[in-house]
Amino acid sequence: MGVCIPEKYGGVGMDYNTLAIICEELERGDTAFRTAVSVHTGLNSMTLLQWGTEEQKQKYLVTQAKGEKIGAFGLTEPNAGSDVAAMETTAVKDGDDYLLNGSKTWISLCDVADHFLTFAKTDLGAKHKGISCFIVERSFPGVSTKAIKGKLGIRAGNTGEVFYVRVPSENMLGYEGEGFKIAMAALDNGRFTVAAGACGTIMASLEASVKYCEERKTFGKEIGRNQLVQQMIAKMYANLEISRLLVFKAGWLKNRGKRNTQETSLAKWISCDAAYEAANDAVQIHGAYGFSNEFPVERYLRNAKAPVIYEGTREIHTIMQGEYWLPRG
Ligand SMILES: Cc1cc2nc3c(=O)[nH]c(=O)nc-3n(C[C@H](O)[C@H](O)[C@H](O)COP(=O)(O)OP(=O)(O)OC[C@H]3O[C@@H](n4cnc5c(N)ncnc54)[C@H](O)[C@@H]3O)c2cc1C
Repeated sequence: MGVCIPEKYGGVGMDYNTLAIICEELERGDTAFRTAVSVHTGLNSMTLLQWGTEEQKQKYLVTQAKGEKIGAFGLTEPNAGSDVAAMETTAVKDGDDYLLNGSKTWISLCDVADHFLTFAKTDLGAKHKGISCFIVERSFPGVSTKAIKGKLGIRAGNTGEVFYVRVPSENMLGYEGEGFKIAMAALDNGRFTVAAGACGTIMASLEASVKYCEERKTFGKEIGRNQLVQQMIAKMYANLEISRLLVFKAGWLKNRGKRNTQETSLAKWISCDAAYEAANDAVQIHGAYGFSNEFPVERYLRNAKAPVIYEGTREIHTIMQGEYWLPRG
């Protein structure tokens, strides 16, 4: 839970590409496990490390890095997902506190988290620059959560709504108006873990498919002897290597403290699309059996959809890549 967090803050002080390998292996088991690390470590703890005061780090980061407390990240709202600046939650100063009025939705780990990093408008007229970030404890007055039922995938993970009320002023992370910058920096880390995790879905799809190719026979031979089936296997492996290399390049930049938003976005976009394609082809290779929960591939396919949506949809990452080459004037 504290892979990239220095030992002095309760972590193990390892590098980004170690985090990537851990995320890949976790998602090879189930996407929900990797999602927990993405949210707790990538979006919350690493943001506290970058933006927290020494006091905030001692109070919140240490217990999170040791895995004693769980962190979540509340950015999305019922009427604001991709368009972060459209958020409607407000934070108004009230004595020594801020009163937060609004709610967040689709928040991973909402029912189990002890601490939430959350975002609210402190200046309604200032769009991106009017957003501030707060550390909210579950025990603060008025905080409540409610799970979303009936999800397509990531069913081993908890996702839902969070409602906030009163937060002490000293729990602001960064300065007033810095929330958008903090959220984008958090996403640079979260997206990296999502991209790395997607490699695990590709690997799991490949492994399950190869096994089935050797077991299942049609027309007197194993289905893996058919070139059209081999084509799907070959594509999975090619995409696994492409995705890993994009992830490791982003990790290499991060380890050196270099800018990596473009590279991380590319890794997230390409690897999540590739994971969805691999899981879809794995179901195809399994024929009708792939359409049942007798084999794990139907779960891979259901789970592979959410990462194409969260931490920047496929469309948002496509636009980001286009705009690096065609910047607005
Ligand atoms: C399982 C799961 C877990 C999640 N966990 C968290 C969490 O822990 N914390 C959190 O804050 N959020 C979380 N989310 C929310 C997630 O980050 C949002 O769903 C995501 O940002 C997209 O927002 P939206 O769903 O409101 O879609 P919208 O922004 O409404 O977009 C709808 C569609 O329109 C497209 N679109 C939007 N704008 C454009 C554009 N300019 N150009 C082209 N297409 C566009 C989108 O790509 C998408 O296809 C989670 C979501 C899921 C499914």
